[in-house]
Amino acid sequence: MREMIFERVDGAPFLFDAGQWVNLVLPLPEGDVRRAYSIASAPSSTPRFELAVTRVSGGPGSEYLHGLEVGAAVHAIGPHGLFTRAPLDPAPALFIATGTGITPLRSMLHAALQAGSEAPMWILFGARFEEDILYRQEFTELSRGSDRIRYDVTLSQGAASWSGRRGYVQEHVPGLLEELSARSPGAPPHLYICGLERMVSAVRQLARGTLGVDRKRVHVERYD
Ligand SMILES: Cc1cc2nc3c(=O)[nH]c(=O)nc-3n(C[C@H](O)[C@H](O)[C@H](O)COP(=O)(O)OP(=O)(O)OC[C@H]3O[C@@H](n4cnc5c(N)ncnc54)[C@H](O)[C@@H]3O)c2cc1C
Repeated sequence: MREMIFERVDGAPFLFDAGQWVNLVLPLPEGDVRRAYSIASAPSSTPRFELAVTRVSGGPGSEYLHGLEVGAAVHAIGPHGLFTRAPLDPAPALFIATGTGITPLRSMLHAALQAGSEAPMWILFGARFEEDILYRQEFTELSRGSDRIRYDVTLSQGAASWSGRRGYVQEHVPGLLEELSARSPGAPPHLYICGLERMVSAVRQLARGTLGVDRKRVHVERYD
C-alpha cells in the first residue's frame, strides 16, 4: 500500500464529504485511464487530501501510482459518491473493511472525532497477514482507553504468533453487532462496509439476511 498526499494546484480548499472518492485520470502509454480512489483523510478547509493505493500486480492504474514521483501532478475529478456518514450522526457505527477499503472509514472516523461526535464507532479490519494491517498504530492509539472507539483486527492467514482474531470479517460481524447493539439500546447501529466485492456482498447478505439489519442501516462501497 502506498499512502499519497495530494494538493490542489490552484490552492483552493478541496471540499468533500467523509467517505467520498476521486477519479484520477492516469496518462498511461495506451491512453488515459480513470481509476477511483476513496479519500483517506477527513474533510478540512485545506487544498490537501490523502489516498492509499494497493499495488495490484499487473494492474496498470495502481502500478502507475506506485511509480509516481513526489511532486508529480495528476488530473483528479470529483469528489463523487454517496457512501458517506454525517460527522455528527449520533447512531453507533460498525466500520467493516478489508485492505484499502479502510480509507473512507478512516475519513468518517476522523471527521466524527473532529466534529466532537459522541457516537460509538467500532472498526473491524480484515487482512491476510499481520504486515497487511493498515493504519494499525493510529487506530490502536485512538481506541486505547476509549469507551466508544473500538478496534478489532482479524487475520485470515495469521502466523502462529498472532494472538488476535482469526478468519474472515464476516465471522466476527454477528458477535460485534450484538455487543454494539446491547451497548446502545434504542440506537441501532449502522454498518459501513468497504472493500472488494466478495467481502462486501458476503457481509451485506449476512447483515440484511440472518442478522435482520434494516437495509437503510447497511451502507456499502465496492472497489471491484
Ligand atoms: C469507489 C471506488 C473507490 C476505490 N478506492 C480505492 C482505494 O482507496 N484504494 C485502492 O487501492 N483502490 C481503490 N479502488 C480500486 C481502484 O479504482 C482500482 O480498481 C485499483 O487501483 C486497480 O486498478 P489497476 O488499474 O491497477 O488494476 P485493474 O486491472 O483495473 O484491476 C485489476 C483487479 O484488481 C482488483 N482490485 C481493485 N482494487 C483493489 C484493491 N484496492 N485491493 C486489491 N485488489 C484490488 C480487482 O479485482 C480488479 O479486478 C476503488 C474503486 C472504486 C470503484
